[in-house]
Amino acid sequence: VTRPGNPETTDTVAGLRRRLDDWRSAGLRVGLVPTMGALHAGHRSLIRRARRQTDRVVVSVFVNPLQFEDRAQFSAYPRDRATDRAQLRAARVDLCFAPTRRAMLPAGFATRVAVLRGTHGWEGADRPGHFEGVATLVARLLSLAGPVRAYFGEKDAQQLAMVRRLVRDLGLPVEVVGCPTVREPDGVACSSRNRLLTASQRRAGASLPQAVRAALSAYQAGERSGETIARRAGDVIAAEPGASLGYAAVVDPDTFEPQVAASARGLVIVAARVGPVRLIDSARLGDRRLAARAARWTSSPPGPPPGPRPPPGT
Ligand code: AMP
Repeated sequence: VTRPGNPETTDTVAGLRRRLDDWRSAGLRVGLVPTMGALHAGHRSLIRRARRQTDRVVVSVFVNPLQFEDRAQFSAYPRDRATDRAQLRAARVDLCFAPTRRAMLPAGFATRVAVLRGTHGWEGADRPGHFEGVATLVARLLSLAGPVRAYFGEKDAQQLAMVRRLVRDLGLPVEVVGCPTVREPDGVACSSRNRLLTASQRRAGASLPQAVRAALSAYQAGERSGETIARRAGDVIAAEPGASLGYAAVVDPDTFEPQVAASARGLVIVAARVGPVRLIDSARLGDRRLAARAARWTSSPPGPPPGPRPPPGT
Protein backbone atom coordinates (compact mmCIF):
# COMPACT_ATOMS: atom_id res chain seq x y z
CA VAL A 1 0.00 0.00 0.00
CA THR A 2 1.64 3.20 -1.12
CA ARG A 3 0.21 6.30 0.47
CA PRO A 4 0.88 9.66 -1.05
CA GLY A 5 2.23 12.21 1.40
CA ASN A 6 5.49 13.24 2.88
CA PRO A 7 7.36 11.02 3.27
CA GLU A 8 5.75 8.53 0.98
CA THR A 9 5.39 5.32 2.97
CA THR A 10 5.00 1.74 1.86
CA ASP A 11 4.62 -1.39 3.93
CA THR A 12 4.92 -3.88 1.10
CA VAL A 13 7.81 -5.25 -0.92
CA ALA A 14 5.85 -4.62 -4.12
CA GLY A 15 5.41 -0.95 -3.16
CA LEU A 16 9.11 -0.60 -2.46
CA ARG A 17 10.11 -2.31 -5.70
CA ARG A 18 7.71 -0.26 -7.82
CA ARG A 19 8.97 3.08 -6.51
CA LEU A 20 12.65 2.14 -6.69
CA ASP A 21 12.33 0.70 -10.19
CA ASP A 22 10.85 4.04 -11.29
CA TRP A 23 13.73 5.99 -9.77
CA ARG A 24 16.39 3.69 -11.12
CA SER A 25 14.98 3.80 -14.64
CA ALA A 26 15.05 7.60 -14.40
CA GLY A 27 18.78 7.30 -13.63
CA LEU A 28 18.43 8.36 -9.99
CA ARG A 29 20.87 6.99 -7.40
CA VAL A 30 19.16 5.46 -4.38
CA GLY A 31 20.58 5.51 -0.83
CA LEU A 32 19.27 3.19 1.90
CA VAL A 33 19.32 3.84 5.65
CA PRO A 34 18.23 0.72 7.56
CA THR A 35 16.80 1.42 11.05
CA MET A 36 14.65 -0.11 13.74
CA GLY A 37 12.79 3.17 14.27
CA ALA A 38 12.54 5.25 17.47
CA LEU A 39 14.62 7.66 15.45
CA HIS A 40 17.16 10.00 17.03
CA ALA A 41 20.04 12.30 16.08
CA GLY A 42 22.25 9.33 15.13
CA HIS A 43 19.75 8.16 12.52
CA ARG A 44 19.29 11.73 11.30
CA SER A 45 23.02 12.07 10.64
CA LEU A 46 22.93 8.91 8.48
CA ILE A 47 19.98 10.37 6.56
CA ARG A 48 21.79 13.71 6.03
CA ARG A 49 24.84 11.90 4.67
CA ALA A 50 22.62 9.84 2.34
CA ARG A 51 20.93 12.99 1.09
CA ARG A 52 24.29 14.54 0.25
CA GLN A 53 25.53 11.48 -1.61
CA THR A 54 22.49 10.12 -3.44
CA ASP A 55 19.41 11.38 -5.34
CA ARG A 56 16.70 9.52 -3.42
CA VAL A 57 16.79 8.35 0.20
CA VAL A 58 14.88 5.34 1.48
CA VAL A 59 14.70 4.73 5.23
CA SER A 60 13.56 1.31 6.36
CA VAL A 61 11.89 1.02 9.75
CA PHE A 62 11.61 -2.53 11.01
CA VAL A 63 12.23 -4.00 14.45
CA ASN A 64 13.95 -7.19 13.40
CA PRO A 65 12.74 -10.14 15.48
CA LEU A 66 15.61 -12.32 14.19
CA GLN A 67 18.22 -10.28 16.03
CA PHE A 68 16.73 -10.37 19.53
CA GLU A 69 17.62 -13.20 21.89
CA ASP A 70 14.23 -13.29 23.52
CA ARG A 71 10.70 -12.12 23.01
CA ALA A 72 10.73 -9.85 26.07
CA GLN A 73 13.56 -7.73 24.68
CA PHE A 74 11.93 -7.64 21.27
CA SER A 75 8.66 -6.48 22.85
CA ALA A 76 10.38 -3.92 25.08
CA TYR A 77 12.21 -2.29 22.16
CA PRO A 78 10.89 1.29 21.85
CA ARG A 79 8.45 1.93 19.03
CA ASP A 80 7.20 5.40 18.14
CA ARG A 81 5.67 5.48 14.68
CA ALA A 82 4.09 8.95 14.88
CA THR A 83 7.31 10.65 15.99
CA ASP A 84 9.33 8.66 13.46
CA ARG A 85 7.08 9.86 10.66
CA ALA A 86 7.47 13.50 11.75
CA GLN A 87 11.25 13.12 11.84
CA LEU A 88 11.37 11.47 8.42
CA ARG A 89 9.28 14.33 7.06
CA ALA A 90 11.57 16.95 8.62
CA ALA A 91 14.63 15.14 7.25
CA ARG A 92 13.01 15.17 3.79
CA VAL A 93 13.30 11.43 3.29
CA ASP A 94 11.85 10.33 -0.05
CA LEU A 95 10.45 6.95 0.93
CA CYS A 96 9.83 5.17 4.20
CA PHE A 97 9.72 1.38 3.94
CA ALA A 98 7.97 0.17 7.08
CA PRO A 99 7.11 -3.44 6.26
CA THR A 100 4.84 -5.62 8.31
CA ARG A 101 6.49 -8.66 9.82
CA ARG A 102 4.83 -10.84 7.20
CA ALA A 103 6.09 -8.66 4.34
CA MET A 104 9.65 -8.72 5.64
CA LEU A 105 9.68 -12.34 6.79
CA PRO A 106 6.96 -14.11 4.80
CA ALA A 107 5.55 -17.41 5.97
CA GLY A 108 8.01 -20.15 5.09
CA PHE A 109 11.05 -17.88 5.34
CA ALA A 110 13.84 -20.39 6.03
CA THR A 111 17.14 -18.74 5.06
CA ARG A 112 19.88 -17.53 7.38
CA VAL A 113 22.98 -15.58 6.45
CA ALA A 114 25.98 -16.00 8.75
CA VAL A 115 29.29 -14.15 8.61
CA LEU A 116 31.71 -16.56 10.23
CA ARG A 117 34.57 -14.24 11.06
CA GLY A 118 34.56 -11.35 13.53
CA THR A 119 31.12 -12.18 14.87
CA HIS A 120 31.77 -14.71 17.63
CA GLY A 121 33.32 -12.45 20.24
CA TRP A 122 32.04 -9.38 22.09
CA GLU A 123 28.45 -8.64 21.04
CA GLY A 124 28.30 -12.06 19.36
CA ALA A 125 29.32 -13.84 22.57
CA ASP A 126 26.85 -11.93 24.72
CA ARG A 127 23.98 -12.18 22.27
CA PRO A 128 23.86 -15.61 20.60
CA GLY A 129 22.20 -15.51 17.18
CA HIS A 130 22.19 -11.72 17.13
CA PHE A 131 24.59 -11.16 14.25
CA GLU A 132 23.07 -13.94 12.15
CA GLY A 133 19.73 -12.19 12.59
CA VAL A 134 21.21 -8.86 11.54
CA ALA A 135 23.09 -10.34 8.56
CA THR A 136 19.99 -12.16 7.33
CA LEU A 137 17.85 -9.06 7.48
CA VAL A 138 20.45 -6.71 6.01
CA ALA A 139 21.10 -9.12 3.12
CA ARG A 140 17.37 -9.27 2.39
CA LEU A 141 16.95 -5.50 2.66
CA LEU A 142 19.89 -4.77 0.37
CA SER A 143 18.57 -7.26 -2.13
CA LEU A 144 15.02 -5.85 -2.03
CA ALA A 145 16.08 -2.22 -2.31
CA GLY A 146 19.19 -2.45 -4.49
CA PRO A 147 20.65 0.89 -3.33
CA VAL A 148 23.97 2.23 -4.66
CA ARG A 149 24.94 3.12 -1.10
CA ALA A 150 23.79 1.92 2.31
CA TYR A 151 24.48 3.84 5.52
CA PHE A 152 25.44 2.34 8.87
CA GLY A 153 26.63 3.86 12.15
CA GLU A 154 30.12 3.38 13.53
CA LYS A 155 28.39 3.21 16.91
CA ASP A 156 27.59 -0.42 16.14
CA ALA A 157 31.19 -1.03 15.14
CA GLN A 158 31.14 -4.82 15.07
CA GLN A 159 27.92 -4.78 13.06
CA LEU A 160 29.45 -2.34 10.56
CA ALA A 161 32.52 -4.56 10.12
CA MET A 162 30.23 -7.57 9.62
CA VAL A 163 28.10 -5.78 7.01
CA ARG A 164 31.24 -4.74 5.09
CA ARG A 165 32.40 -8.38 5.12
CA LEU A 166 28.97 -9.63 4.02
CA VAL A 167 28.79 -7.19 1.10
CA ARG A 168 32.32 -8.04 -0.02
CA ASP A 169 31.84 -11.81 0.30
CA LEU A 170 28.52 -11.91 -1.56
CA GLY A 171 29.65 -9.33 -4.14
CA LEU A 172 26.59 -7.18 -3.50
CA PRO A 173 26.68 -4.11 -5.75
CA VAL A 174 26.41 -1.56 -2.94
CA GLU A 175 28.86 0.74 -1.20
CA VAL A 176 28.69 0.52 2.59
CA VAL A 177 29.17 3.95 4.17
CA GLY A 178 30.12 4.10 7.87
CA CYS A 179 29.02 7.27 9.70
CA PRO A 180 30.53 8.71 12.92
CA THR A 181 28.83 8.16 16.27
CA VAL A 182 26.52 11.00 17.31
CA ARG A 183 26.65 11.70 21.05
CA GLU A 184 24.68 13.53 23.72
CA PRO A 185 26.37 16.48 25.48
CA ASP A 186 27.71 14.13 28.20
CA GLY A 187 29.26 11.86 25.57
CA VAL A 188 26.69 9.05 25.73
CA ALA A 189 26.07 7.70 22.23
CA CYS A 190 22.53 8.43 21.04
CA SER A 191 20.53 5.21 21.13
CA SER A 192 16.87 4.27 21.02
CA ARG A 193 17.56 2.27 24.19
CA ASN A 194 18.51 5.41 26.15
CA ARG A 195 14.83 6.19 26.52
CA LEU A 196 14.41 3.09 28.67
CA LEU A 197 16.78 4.55 31.32
CA THR A 198 15.91 6.52 34.46
CA ALA A 199 17.88 9.71 35.22
CA SER A 200 20.30 7.91 37.54
CA GLN A 201 20.79 5.01 35.13
CA ARG A 202 21.41 7.57 32.43
CA ARG A 203 24.19 9.06 34.61
CA ALA A 204 25.71 5.60 35.06
CA GLY A 205 25.61 5.24 31.26
CA ALA A 206 28.05 8.14 30.98
CA SER A 207 30.75 5.78 32.28
CA LEU A 208 30.91 4.21 28.80
CA PRO A 209 32.08 7.33 26.93
CA GLN A 210 34.33 8.11 29.91
CA ALA A 211 35.89 4.66 29.47
CA VAL A 212 36.43 5.38 25.78
CA ARG A 213 37.95 8.71 26.72
CA ALA A 214 40.35 7.02 29.17
CA ALA A 215 41.50 4.65 26.41
CA LEU A 216 42.08 7.48 23.95
CA SER A 217 44.06 9.46 26.57
CA ALA A 218 46.21 6.44 27.36
CA TYR A 219 46.93 5.95 23.66
CA GLN A 220 47.75 9.65 23.20
CA ALA A 221 50.06 9.48 26.21
CA GLY A 222 52.06 6.78 24.41
CA GLU A 223 50.63 3.55 25.84
CA ARG A 224 50.75 0.85 23.14
CA SER A 225 49.72 -2.30 24.98
CA GLY A 226 46.19 -3.18 23.84
CA GLU A 227 45.62 -5.04 27.07
CA THR A 228 46.66 -2.10 29.26
CA ILE A 229 44.54 0.36 27.30
CA ALA A 230 41.56 -2.01 27.53
CA ARG A 231 42.08 -2.32 31.28
CA ARG A 232 42.10 1.47 31.68
CA ALA A 233 38.74 1.61 29.91
CA GLY A 234 37.28 -1.32 31.86
CA ASP A 235 38.34 0.19 35.20
CA VAL A 236 36.25 3.30 34.53
CA ILE A 237 33.09 1.25 34.02
CA ALA A 238 33.90 -1.11 36.92
CA ALA A 239 34.13 1.93 39.21
CA GLU A 240 30.55 2.95 38.35
CA PRO A 241 28.15 1.13 40.72
CA GLY A 242 25.19 1.60 38.38
CA ALA A 243 26.90 -0.15 35.45
CA SER A 244 27.93 -3.76 35.12
CA LEU A 245 30.87 -4.26 32.76
CA GLY A 246 30.34 -6.63 29.85
CA TYR A 247 33.70 -6.20 28.15
CA ALA A 248 36.38 -3.63 27.39
CA ALA A 249 38.84 -4.47 24.61
CA VAL A 250 41.14 -3.07 21.96
CA VAL A 251 40.52 -4.76 18.61
CA ASP A 252 41.41 -4.67 14.94
CA PRO A 253 38.59 -2.74 13.18
CA ASP A 254 38.13 -5.36 10.44
CA THR A 255 38.58 -8.71 12.16
CA PHE A 256 37.64 -7.72 15.71
CA GLU A 257 40.58 -9.80 16.95
CA PRO A 258 42.25 -8.25 20.03
CA GLN A 259 45.15 -5.93 19.14
CA VAL A 260 48.17 -6.85 21.23
CA ALA A 261 50.10 -3.86 19.92
CA ALA A 262 47.57 -1.04 19.77
CA SER A 263 47.54 1.07 16.60
CA ALA A 264 45.84 4.36 15.71
CA ARG A 265 43.17 2.53 13.70
CA GLY A 266 42.60 0.06 16.53
CA LEU A 267 39.19 0.31 18.17
CA VAL A 268 38.45 0.49 21.85
CA ILE A 269 35.10 -1.24 22.35
CA VAL A 270 33.09 -1.36 25.57
CA ALA A 271 29.77 -2.81 26.67
CA ALA A 272 27.90 -2.65 29.96
CA ARG A 273 24.53 -3.43 31.37
CA VAL A 274 22.87 -0.36 32.83
CA GLY A 275 19.44 -0.89 34.36
CA PRO A 276 17.29 -2.75 31.85
CA VAL A 277 19.55 -2.32 28.81
CA ARG A 278 22.94 -3.11 27.35
CA LEU A 279 24.87 -0.10 26.18
CA ILE A 280 27.88 -0.16 23.86
CA ASP A 281 30.45 2.40 22.78
CA SER A 282 33.61 2.48 20.71
CA ALA A 283 36.17 4.74 19.08
CA ARG A 284 39.36 4.66 17.06
CA LEU A 285 42.32 5.04 19.40
CA GLY A 286 43.90 7.60 17.07
CA ASP A 287 40.76 9.77 16.85
CA ARG A 288 42.25 13.07 18.04
CA ARG A 289 39.12 15.06 17.30
CA LEU A 290 37.07 12.83 19.55
CA ALA A 291 39.75 13.02 22.26
CA ALA A 292 39.59 16.83 22.11
CA ARG A 293 35.80 16.84 22.15
CA ALA A 294 35.73 14.39 25.09
CA ALA A 295 37.40 17.02 27.27
CA ARG A 296 34.22 19.10 26.91
CA TRP A 297 31.70 16.37 27.72
CA THR A 298 29.45 17.60 30.51
CA SER A 299 29.26 15.54 33.69
CA SER A 300 25.47 15.60 33.94
CA PRO A 301 23.07 14.24 31.36
CA PRO A 302 20.65 16.46 29.46
CA GLY A 303 17.24 17.02 31.10
CA PRO A 304 14.51 15.57 28.91
CA PRO A 305 15.35 12.76 26.50
CA PRO A 306 16.15 13.89 22.95
CA GLY A 307 13.59 14.15 20.19
CA PRO A 308 9.98 15.24 20.23
CA ARG A 309 7.86 13.37 22.77
CA PRO A 310 4.27 12.35 22.22
CA PRO A 311 1.84 14.46 24.24
CA PRO A 312 0.86 12.94 27.60
CA GLY A 313 -2.04 10.54 27.53
CA THR A 314 -1.36 9.20 24.01
P1 AMP B 1 19.14 0.99 14.93
O1 AMP B 1 17.84 1.68 14.65
O2 AMP B 1 19.58 1.09 16.35
O3 AMP B 1 19.22 -0.40 14.36
O4 AMP B 1 20.25 1.82 14.14
C1 AMP B 1 20.13 2.05 12.76
C2 AMP B 1 21.43 2.58 12.25
O5 AMP B 1 21.76 3.80 12.93
C3 AMP B 1 22.59 1.62 12.52
O6 AMP B 1 23.45 1.61 11.38
C4 AMP B 1 23.26 2.23 13.71
O7 AMP B 1 24.64 1.93 13.80
C5 AMP B 1 23.06 3.70 13.46
N1 AMP B 1 23.17 4.45 14.71
C6 AMP B 1 22.53 4.18 15.88
N2 AMP B 1 22.91 5.05 16.84
C7 AMP B 1 23.81 5.87 16.27
C8 AMP B 1 24.59 6.98 16.74
N3 AMP B 1 24.49 7.42 18.00
N4 AMP B 1 25.42 7.60 15.88
C9 AMP B 1 25.52 7.17 14.59
N5 AMP B 1 24.82 6.14 14.09
C10 AMP B 1 23.98 5.49 14.91
